[in-house]
Amino acid sequence: MNYKVIVCPDKYCRGITIIRKETKTTTCRECDKSYDLEDYKISYETNNHEEAIEARTQLLLKRNDESEENIGEFTTRTISKKETDKESYFS
Ligand SMILES: [Zn+2]
Repeated sequence: MNYKVIVCPDKYCRGITIIRKETKTTTCRECDKSYDLEDYKISYETNNHEEAIEARTQLLLKRNDESEENIGEFTTRTISKKETDKESYFS
């Protein structure tokens, strides 16, 4: 099973959705609008659901930290699995 973490093409939304299979159109979980899958930015791909969730979490943190222009840079980076990062954010 292949999971993809995708970012909504709407610049006012930037909702992050995890999909399990590729379909022609995908509905953003945050704004509830449908877009072609190719309009989404695919930020992360994995066979592991846990990893997909972790990737989404990291992206959400990233989105809060940085301006939307910088989200793309995150795609090439390896996502840290350190739990300490998350803890420090929520504390
Ligand atoms: Zn959206």
